[in-house]
Formats: sequence, structure tokens, C-alpha cells
Amino acid sequence: MTSILWQEKLRVEEKYDLIVCGGGVAGAAAALSGRRHGLRVLLLEKQCILGGLATGGLVNYWVPLCNGRGKYVIGGMARELLNLSLAHSFNTLRPDWLHGEPRHETEQRSDTWFSGGLFALSLLKLLKEEGVTILYDALVSSPVMEGGHCAGIIIDGKSGRRLYPCAAAVDATGDASVMKQAGVPVTDGENYFTYYGEAVSLNGCRAALETGNVFLAYDHPRGGSADLHGREQPEHKAPYAGCDMEIVNQYLQENQLFMYEKEKDRCGMGRNIHALPTIPQLRTARHIDGNAVFTGDEWFRHSETSIGTICDFEFRDRLYEVPYGTLVKDGFDNLIACGRCASAVGRGWDVLRVIPPAVLTGQAAGTAAALALSCRVPVVEAPVRQLQQELAQTGVMIHYPDAMVPLNGQA
Ligand SMILES: Cc1cc2nc3c(=O)[nH]c(=O)nc-3n(C[C@H](O)[C@H](O)[C@H](O)COP(=O)(O)OP(=O)(O)OC[C@H]3O[C@@H](n4cnc5c(N)ncnc54)[C@H](O)[C@@H]3O)c2cc1C
Repeated sequence: MTSILWQEKLRVEEKYDLIVCGGGVAGAAAALSGRRHGLRVLLLEKQCILGGLATGGLVNYWVPLCNGRGKYVIGGMARELLNLSLAHSFNTLRPDWLHGEPRHETEQRSDTWFSGGLFALSLLKLLKEEGVTILYDALVSSPVMEGGHCAGIIIDGKSGRRLYPCAAAVDATGDASVMKQAGVPVTDGENYFTYYGEAVSLNGCRAALETGNVFLAYDHPRGGSADLHGREQPEHKAPYAGCDMEIVNQYLQENQLFMYEKEKDRCGMGRNIHALPTIPQLRTARHIDGNAVFTGDEWFRHSETSIGTICDFEFRDRLYEVPYGTLVKDGFDNLIACGRCASAVGRGWDVLRVIPPAVLTGQAAGTAAALALSCRVPVVEAPVRQLQQELAQTGVMIHYPDAMVPLNGQA
């Protein structure tokens, strides 16, 4: 391989207190919480809508925020964005949750589909009303590092390459690409053969008409159908790395051609594929190796540095507290991760990366950045007690009450 040295004069834009790289649910929450703490915030998004996988990725489904006994566990901005996504949308809430948290114990969980398109629009409206500056079609290409300090973010856009100086930056790219380039250690994920789009059919429309719920008009045409545990992964296929350009292309093109073969004779006047994901539906692209690692074995264990309690979307009762160290790395004074990029492995990565916890870590990242800046300390030294208080004031459950642990201590 040959290489060249490239030098270039960059236009330098105005400085922001906080730059959030990536406008998925985690980035939106980080931007909003930074702004609500008085920071001037710039949100950079390479696509043309907000929401990331939860909207353009067609993953418009909230896994439960509850413990499987009728109590919300994940609070704060995750609840706020859940409500926002449902405010004008169809939903598939179970009966016990239709009017909010049920008054009685129930095994029904609070999961629901929602309109991804409307959620993207609602997020934009909310963030703009609260004063976040949003730049779409802005590909973050590199952080400008001075040792472990990020002095700014370089973007590529229609008007060329620009540098935005910043006091702090959040990596909400879903694949930790900013922190990797900054020199933070990272680990790549492995992904199964999964790919789906969204179709509408006359049969679906009939069901929608009969029930009055437009959600039933849609179905999900598939390429690969492997689930997150690898069930239905074709035997001959190796898992896909999430951050290798050739492998991601192979994943995309194999899946799209596979979907084409399966769908070409099913579509026509009675059925149409109207949406394909605009983001690779790779569950685990890359995470930082932060000061703490969330493994998924920590259920029913309190963490002194908890930034919030989360639940397990598959196991009723299982409660976890997420340590602050999953978002930061020693030696990097003003960079902080959230969402899919947070430091987690194995089952822990699956539990932490889904939409409600991604919002929670986003909210924590924006709040922590604001506190660190106001105390003039590196983000790793952000005052955790104060962070917990700020988050708790918005409804985040920092520590789960021990009364929520089943008597036999098993989930
Ligand atoms: C197949 C699949 C099924 C899933 N099912 C569910 C489910 O049912 N329920 C659930 O709750 N969760 C589910 N998840 C997980 C969930 O969707 C995501 O983990 C969550 O939405 C992650 O949010 P995020 O903001 O961290 O990342 P993302 O949604 O990936 O957002 C990252 C954003 O950063 C932008 N970006 C990336 N790089 C750059 C760059 N260089 N410059 C500028 N912008 C950039 C992207 O365009 C994107 O908007 C699923 C995921 C997959 C892949």
C-alpha cells in the first residue's frame, strides 16, 4: 500500500462549548442535556434526519423501559423521548400500558413500535426549540487532538472541509469513530446476517382498516434473518465486522441482493417496499474500552458511580446500574462516549446499546460534559455525585430500590 502526505488549509468556524458527533437517539439526548445545562451545542449528523438506527435504520421499536412487573425503571430523557415518539404516532402498547404506568403489577412490558418518520421530525422540532444548532449532511471526518485534548472537529460537507473548535465533544456515532481516531482504545463488534426494510401491502392495509391501526399496513421484508443471538445465521457465513469498509459493503450488498431475490415476485400492484435502512443494521459496530466495562453480569449490583438504572429487555426483573466509567477514558480530558459506543462487552453490550439505555447514556454524557466544563476538570473527574443529582432531578433512577429485587434474588 502506498500513501501520501496531504496538507490543506481549513476554514475555521465559530467555537462551540459542546460538539455532539452523531444525531441518533444517544446524540440527540446528549445535545439536549448539554443545552439544558446552558452549553452552546452543535450536533453534527452525516444523514439528513435525526434518530439514527431508531428512525433511518427502521429500528422504530422501544424495548421495555420497565421491570416486567409494571414499574418503569429507565427514566429521565428516555421516558421523555418515548412520550415524544408516541405523541402523534401509532403504537403497539399492550393494554396495561395504554394510559401510562399501570396501577397494578403486570407481566406485560412497556415495549412499543412507533412512527420513525414522525419521531425524526419531532426530535428536530424539540432540539431546535431548545436551541441546539444542527448540521445535517455533515460527515465528521476527524477530531483535532492536542495530546488527549480535543480542540475541535473536522467535518466534510457540501461546502468543503471545515474545522469546528470545541471545549468538549461527545462521540455518539454508534461506532466510536471519533474516539478511535483520538487514540482511545476500542473493540470491534461481530454481527450476524440481519437486514430488513419496510413494505406496505393491500392485505396489510385491509388489516389496518379493520383495526384502525395503520401499523398493521406494514411488514418487514428481509434479507438475512439472524437474530441478536445468531439464530438463523447461515452456517457458511462468518460474522461481519462492523467497522471495516469492505466487510460492511459485503454485508450490505449480500443482504440487498438476498432481499431482492426473496421479494421480486412478491411486489407489484399489491405490495411495495417503500423503505430500506439508510444505516447498516449492525447491532455492534465498535465500542470504546472505557474506564469501566459493562459486562451484563452486574444485575442486582449497585454501582457507586451509577448514571442510571436500566432493565433487561429479555429478562423480567433483571436490573443493572450503569457505571459512569463506561463513557470515559483516562488521558482524554474532554471526550465522552454514549449510546452504542459506550464501553460494554458480550451480553452487556446488547443490554446497554438498545434505544432506552442509549438515551440514558446520551443524557448522562451531555450532563457530565457540562459539569466537567463548569468545574474545569477533565470529564473523567466530573463530579459524579452532582451528576447523579442532576440526572435524578429529571427522573433518572440512579439506584434501584432493593425492594425491586425478587425475594430469591434471581431474575
Ligand atoms: C437489527 C437491529 C435491531 C435492533 N432492534 C432494536 C429494538 O427492537 N429495540 C431497541 O430499543 N433497539 C434495537 N436495536 C438497537 C438500537 O437501534 C440502537 O442500538 C440504538 O438506536 C443506538 O443509538 P445510537 O444513537 O447509539 O446510535 P445510532 O442510531 O447508530 O446513531 C449514530 C448516528 O451517528 C451518525 N454518524 C455516524 N458516523 C458519523 C460521522 N462520521 N459523522 C456524522 N454523523 C455520523 C449516524 O448517521 C447516526 O445518525 C437494534 C439494532 C439493530 C442493528
